[in-house]
This record gives sequence, C-alpha cells and structure tokens, in this order.
Amino acid sequence: MPSTRPLPLLDRFGRIHTDLRVSLTDRCNLRCTYCMPEEGLAWLPKPELLTDDEMLRLVDIGVRRLGIRSVRLTGGEPLLRRGLPGLVERISGLPDAPELSLTTNGIGLARSAVALRDAGLRRVNVSLDTLRRDRYTEITRRDRLSDVLLGLAAAQVAGLAPVKINAVPVRGVNEDEIADLAAFAVDHGYRMRFIESMPLDAQGAWDRSRMVTADEILERLGERFVLEPLPREGNAPAEEWRVVGTDSVVGVIASVTRPFCGGCDRVRLTADGQLRNCLFACQESDLRALLRGGADDDAVEAAWRASVAGKGPGHDINSADFRQPERPMSAIGG
Ligand code: SAM
Ligand code: SF4
Repeated sequence: MPSTRPLPLLDRFGRIHTDLRVSLTDRCNLRCTYCMPEEGLAWLPKPELLTDDEMLRLVDIGVRRLGIRSVRLTGGEPLLRRGLPGLVERISGLPDAPELSLTTNGIGLARSAVALRDAGLRRVNVSLDTLRRDRYTEITRRDRLSDVLLGLAAAQVAGLAPVKINAVPVRGVNEDEIADLAAFAVDHGYRMRFIESMPLDAQGAWDRSRMVTADEILERLGERFVLEPLPREGNAPAEEWRVVGTDSVVGVIASVTRPFCGGCDRVRLTADGQLRNCLFACQESDLRALLRGGADDDAVEAAWRASVAGKGPGHDINSADFRQPERPMSAIGG
C-alpha cells in the first residue's frame, strides 16, 4: 500500500528536491581528458563504499520520507558496480519506487541492457563525444568506440527509451563534430544533448577558453538544421529544440553560461555515502557515518533535510571567488 505523502524536501529558496543522483562507484574504465587524469587518481577504499543494503536504505528513506521521485544511477562508471541488476531490481521493488535511470559511458551496456531493463531500469544516457575512432581514443584514452556504439544500439532494442547521448564539446578537440553527432542521433533515433564543460575535472585543469558555449553549440547546429524551441520540461537542466523535418529533439545543458540553479531539484549521494546538496558544494553530510553508527530513519531524514536547508542559491563558476570542489565529478556522480 502506498505510504502517506512525505513533506517536501525544501530549501531556503523554496526549491523542492525530488531528484536523487546516486554514484555507485568512483572507478572508471575510461579516462576522459575533461574528467580524469591519465593516471594517478586514487580510488575510494572499498570499506568506505556503501554496500547495496546501505544504498537501498538511503534510497528508501529518500522516496518514503522525503519525496524523492526519480533516481539516476551514475559514477564513475556505474556498470562497473558488481551485481548492478540486483541493486536495480531492489530499488524498483521499493514501495513508491522512483523512476530509475542510468548515466553510463556505454561500455558493457550491450551485455547488460536487457537484464537492467528487466530489473526495472527505465532510461539510459550514454556519453559519446565523437564518432571517430582515433579521436575517441584520444579523448577517452581507450580504444572503445565500437563497444559504445553497440551499447547504444542494445539500449534502444531493450526499450530504455528515449536513449540519450551526452557529449561534452571541447574547443580544438571535437567542436567540429557537433552537427555530425546531432545527425547521427537523428538518424538512429537517439536524443542528443550537449553539455558545457565544467570545472569539475580531477586534475583541476579546466580552462574557460576551451569550453564550447551554448551559443556556439547552437550556432553550429544552426548551420545544418532548423531548430524549433520546445518548452522546458519541469526543472530539467536541458534546453531543448525540435529538429525541424524530423521527430528528433536536441538539447543543451548550459550549466556555465545559462545557469539553471533557480530551478534545481537535485541532491546527490556519493558512493561513500556523503550527501551533497549541489554539484559544486564544498561541504557534505556524512550519511554513512549515521548508518554505521546505528542511526534510525528519523535521524537520517533530519540530517538529509538539514543538508538541503543549507543549500546555497547557486554555483559561483562565473564569480572571481569560485573555488573548485575538492571532490571531482567522477567521484560525485555527474
Ligand atoms: N561514466 C559515466 C559517463 O561518462 O556517462 C557516468 C559518470 S560521468 C562523470 C557523467 C557525465 O558527466 C558524462 O556525460 C560526462 O561526459 C560528464 N562530465 C564529466 N566531466 C565533465 C566536466 N568536467 N564537465 C561537464 N561534464 C562532464
Ligand atoms: Fe569515466 Fe564518465 Fe569520467 Fe569519462 S566522464 S572518465 S566515462 S566517469
């Protein structure tokens, strides 16, 4: 029987939080240049990682007591988490189960798409920054483009729809492929989304001048397609356009040049059980310590609400005072 409606997870600015991003691991089988250094990044020690039981308990508290309605599994590379279909099945089996989606680099998805769908996964976003094999190898430092293309096709066949592709354009690297990536998505029935690169790389080497802005992305798309703006879907970060003459949609997530913090409805849980009220937060709430210290659900709920209550109005990327958080994107969960 559905439980009574929880009180909304509100912050000081009246934003209601209904979306939870859960990082399943900080590890990855790629080393995308805008995300990780080639080597030398230490992984979180295994005992510090939440177990499946601990993750499930936190997701359950989120949906039952805090009004979380959607959960996105991410990482690091979430497909590297052992027994992932089992965890997906357990989350899907919760009373008031959230809508469950996954962000992945697509490696291994060809093998796991059907099992994940059968376990209750609804949708998938696959990261793909280029269609050229040599360039893919340069960007990710691994020669795995064909695995990703197979993974995309398998997700489509499994019905994890709409299959979205995330690309991060970087100047001098792949910005000349923006229209080609969109054409590939149109031809294959995928939904293309371009993301402005953000100062969240583990090596702290983000360079604003290499970020390709939303305006530039739209200019490049406009050279090949006619785009018709679509109304924004709820608090979704993506601005979207219909590609005229097709039934395809293309989106841009302009976190830096068109911040959408005013409508933010997200909270994030790291693989080691730290709650973050913002991608750019410099403070975290240690939910793992509470769980392992024997805290009851009331105490976990109170800590979670306190964290969200302390959320700032937005990120400061565009201010001179901006400080990059210590934890990189790969360990927060993008
Ligand atoms: N490994 C999975 C993947 O690549 O999809 C999930 C984790 S990854 C951190 C999630 C998303 O963040 C990917 O779409 C990736 O392209 C994006 N990303 C990583 N570093 C970024 C950065 N510095 N700026 C913007 N997006 C970034
Ligand atoms: Fe791995 Fe995703 Fe980061 Fe690329 S963007 S290195 S696939 S976590």
